[in-house]
This record gives sequence, structure tokens and C-alpha cells, in this order.
Amino acid sequence: MAKKFEFTSLNHTKLTDGFWGRRTENYQEIIDSMLEALLNPTNSARLLNFEIAAGELNAEFFGAHWSDGDCYKFLEGCCYIYQNTGDEKVKEMVQKYAKLIAKSQEEDGYICTQITLTDKKRWERYDFHELYNMGHLFTLAVAYFDAFQDKLLIKVANKLADYLYNIFSSYPKDLLNFGFNPSNIMGLCDLYRITGIEKQYKLAEIFVNMRGMSQEKDKDGIRADPTGKARKTGNFATDQNQTLVPLREETMATGHAVTSSYLYSGATDVYSITGEKALLDALERIYTDLTTKRIYITGGTNATFVGHSERGSLTHESHGTEYELPNKIAYNETCANIGAAMWCLRMLQVTEDTKYGDMAERIMYNAGISGTNLELTRYFYSNPLSYKKDTPIPGEWAQYKHKSSRRWHTYTCWCCPPQLLRTIAGIGRWVYGISKDTLYINMFTSSDYKDGNLDVSMKTNYPFEEKVELKINHATNQRLKIRIPVWCDNPSINDTPVKSGYYELEVNSGDEFTIDLPMKAKFMQANPHVESDRGMTCVMRGPVVYAAEGIDNKYSLDELFLYTDREVLATYEKDLLAGVVTLEVPAKHIPQKSDLYYEIQTDGEDTTVKMIPYYAWANRELCDMNVWFAKA
Ligand SMILES: [Zn+2]
Repeated sequence: MAKKFEFTSLNHTKLTDGFWGRRTENYQEIIDSMLEALLNPTNSARLLNFEIAAGELNAEFFGAHWSDGDCYKFLEGCCYIYQNTGDEKVKEMVQKYAKLIAKSQEEDGYICTQITLTDKKRWERYDFHELYNMGHLFTLAVAYFDAFQDKLLIKVANKLADYLYNIFSSYPKDLLNFGFNPSNIMGLCDLYRITGIEKQYKLAEIFVNMRGMSQEKDKDGIRADPTGKARKTGNFATDQNQTLVPLREETMATGHAVTSSYLYSGATDVYSITGEKALLDALERIYTDLTTKRIYITGGTNATFVGHSERGSLTHESHGTEYELPNKIAYNETCANIGAAMWCLRMLQVTEDTKYGDMAERIMYNAGISGTNLELTRYFYSNPLSYKKDTPIPGEWAQYKHKSSRRWHTYTCWCCPPQLLRTIAGIGRWVYGISKDTLYINMFTSSDYKDGNLDVSMKTNYPFEEKVELKINHATNQRLKIRIPVWCDNPSINDTPVKSGYYELEVNSGDEFTIDLPMKAKFMQANPHVESDRGMTCVMRGPVVYAAEGIDNKYSLDELFLYTDREVLATYEKDLLAGVVTLEVPAKHIPQKSDLYYEIQTDGEDTTVKMIPYYAWANRELCDMNVWFAKA
């Protein structure tokens, strides 16, 4: 095993009243709202398909090819809610659907309602998403077992894994690219962790090996399709699906940003079991490329709806080319941003390098959650870095596809809402890590961790508060490693200065610590190669990126020029946007002309810009929003 630690089960970690615990406080309202969408006949993800497949309802299949997977993600999130709350009503609901899922499985282990219930054939087209759906079922089975100690879905998953092993272990030529949206790799590694059945992780490794094996290079076929979706057979090699280059030889983050993040996450899971150096080397190269050339300051990873790779594949919903990071048309699908955080956490787990934890944190406090309203009941697919209310976004047009001015409830592609639910409800799993001799503290949020030997509690309103109180209720000579974020100036523990990285110490029952993580607001800039941000600045405080909304500011946001050498005032506003630190940023208001081009304007008056955390934008009235500003 190449893992340095395991993340912890929610049976051991309980979130209390911190930033993350508060986000699912209204869990019944969240579940009711999501169930309403999942039972709506026009929503792309639909739970009723399992009732139909189980023979308990006489109706027709409706939904996207990936509907099953999105239902599994919802139920996975509900398992975590049960672990957080112990609410029997949640348990009953999840168990009801688990039984229907089990009954939907075909005799030979296959399970996918959009194939079983229609005249579509198995393994006919790669974009039927069979492996995506099945992958999320593996992960649900593990979450279900952890929550209820019930092996019902583990049995379903084992049978399905056997079925897939028989099909894919011989590397069938026609199916080499069918795992293009590969939650199946992560899912099989999750399953192996519970069952110990070797061929499950070996099958996961086979899916990694298949990348780049197809010899048919089909750039023309891809170029012929203006949406970049390419042909339907899937038996071609393209950067869009990360199949042009074998993963072990890859040097860049490329193609569809959800499928890439799932591939990199799954491959990290495979590495965590096999310890194969070539795989880790490739993943580190890809990470460096992603984080030095293709990621937004908010942690969004997905610049374009329609674009191309450096190697000539047309792409969609993808990473941009080097430094291609537009703001208003930034695509940044919520699923992709969260997928990148999932990958970073896995890299942290196998390397102990806290740069991965720092990046996971940056994503999760920004682009990872900007896709939901504060109540977790309305959602964005796309997460741009600027918005203009007078030029609203036509959501079906080319670069603007899947963008909307208002968060929605049901949708034609309902993949992001359950991704948000399972991540936010399950985030307690990532707060601590445990190895044979060490407890890791990877995230700061109010929570308790308890196992047979250890009892630790953490209290903080991080990331709005700089202090974290850590109390060791029970421990004997326990080694602790605390992640100190790189963005901190002069961090300390009990007034002793510490450096960024893991800070190690030994603790015993009764020890108490105050971790001080100073969070002065900082003016940031982009590398000048990023054309859209050149000469501009944005503001971060700790891991949180700030944005200004029209509702808080009397001048047009585009006429505000920030003074980067003056002091920023930070204020905690308990009743605003569920409690946030807002910033008053010194600026100059310089009125502009209506001409397209004119001599530079410098006359104006001093003022301030009020800023809120980026993730909280679009929770009030429709108005302009900017992350990046000109400098005064
Ligand atoms: Zn999505």
C-alpha cells in the first residue's frame, strides 16, 4: 500500500457547528428538495427508473444516459447525512431505493436502467455511460455499508464487478475507450478496500491501462463534429477523452475536465494500492501542468465549453490551452471543480505533500461550492468569474452552454447537484486522516474525532476565523500532523511559530492547542500570460477568493480601480449570506466613456469596494459580479 494514511469514516468523525456542519443543518429540506427533482418527470436524473426496472412500476424509462449514476450520488450523499444525524427517516428512504437497485440488477450482474428498459444494446456506444453509472454504484455500495453495516449493495457490486472483469480483462478492442467518464476506477478501488477481492483493483488498473491503447487516431472524425462531441462509437483516440496518450506517458491536463479529474483520481487510487512509480510520476506531471497553466484562482479547472487541445483534438467542457482562462465565459462545471478537489485529496494521501491539501482547500472554499445556493437547494452547472446582468447569458448558445443567470432546481443535465450533496455532506471524511501511528488534521472545521484510542475535538469558524482550538480529550503519546497552509504569514501553535507543511507533535489526554492561521487580505495577480487578467488584481483572504456584486456597490464594477497598497478592512457579518467575512477594499472610481477606444482616463474619486466570498455570489437579487479588477 502506498497510502500514507486513510481518510476517516463518518462513524468516527462528526461535524459540529463550523462552516461545513452548518451547510447541511437543514438536511431534511435539502433531501426533500432533491427528491422532488429526482421524481420530476422532466429531470435528467430520475429515481423512478429503478422502480420500473425492479418491476414495481409500469412506466417508461426517462432520463439522461447518466441518470443512474446521478441517483447513486444522491443516495451516497444521503448515507453521509444519516451518519451525521442518525435520522431514521433518511435511513428508510435510502434503504427503500437500495432494495429497488438490487432488484434492478440483471441475472448476469449487469445493471443500467437506460439499457435494461429501452431497446438500446449493451456496450453499443461509449456515451451510454454504462461504466460511469456502475462506478457510482460501487462507491454507493461502500457508503451504504459504512452507514448501515448492511451488505445488500456490496453483494450487487461484487456481482457487477465479476461481470465487468469477464468482459474487460481481455482488453476487448472495440471497448478500449468505453470507460471515458471513469468513476468506475475510483469505485472499484473503493470496493476493494471493503472486500479485499484482488481482481477488483486489478480491473481498476485495467481501465487505467486502456487509456491510449486504441491505435485508431481519429482527429478528422472529431474535427468534423462542431460541438466536439465526436463520433458515437468511442473507438478512437482523442484528448477530449484522455485517450490520445497512454496515461503513464501524459504530460498535461487535457480534455473533458470531469472525465480527466475522475481518471486522475482513479489512477491515484490504483497507485495507492500498487505503488507503481510510473503512474505517480505521470500524475505529478499532470498536476503541475494543471496548476501552473490551466486552473482559475477559484479552483475552477474547466475554461471552455468548446475548445481544442494543444495536440489538435477538438474538445468540449474541457481544460483550456495554456493560460486560456476567460472570466465571463469560464465554463467551470461544478462536477469538474469538485473532481479536481477529490484528486488533490488523493494525492495528499499518497504523498503527504501538503501542497495538494492547500489546493483541495482552495477549490472547496471557492469553485467547489459556488455551484449551489446557501441552502443547497438550487444549483449552477457553470461557474464563471464575472457576470453582467444587462447581457444575460443565453444558456444554450455555444460558449455559453449550461450557463444560467439564476440557479435552477431541475435540469437537462442534473449531474452537479448530487455531486455537491455527496461532497458537502461527506466532507467530514476528509477532515482527519489516520495511519498506524499518526492522526492527520487536514482541514479546519468544528468537528469531533473518536475511535477506540483517540478522542479529539476541534472548534473554529474557519475560514472566517483565524484561530482553531484543538482539544485532546483522550490520547496516549499520540503523534499528530497538522497541515499548515502555505498562504499563512506567521502561523503559530500555542504561540510557537510554525512553518507551512505538516507540523508534527506528540499529544496526550488533556492537551489543548490554539492554532493561529493569520488571514490578512492579499492582492493577487495572474501570470501575465493569462490575457484575461493581465494588469488586473483580485483579493483573497486565507483560502477564500473574493468577488464584488452590484448589489453592494453603487458604481459600475468595471469603473472601480483597486489600490493594492492600502489596508483592507475585514468584518464578520453574522447575518449576511449565512455568516461571512466581508471586505472593504480601497479603490478609485474613474468614470469611463461610452466609446470603444479612447485616451486613458485617470480622473476620479476615492471610494471602497465591498466584497463577499466568491462562493456566495448570486444568492440575492440579479446583479453584476466581478472577481478581477483593474488596478488604480
Ligand atoms: Zn456536473
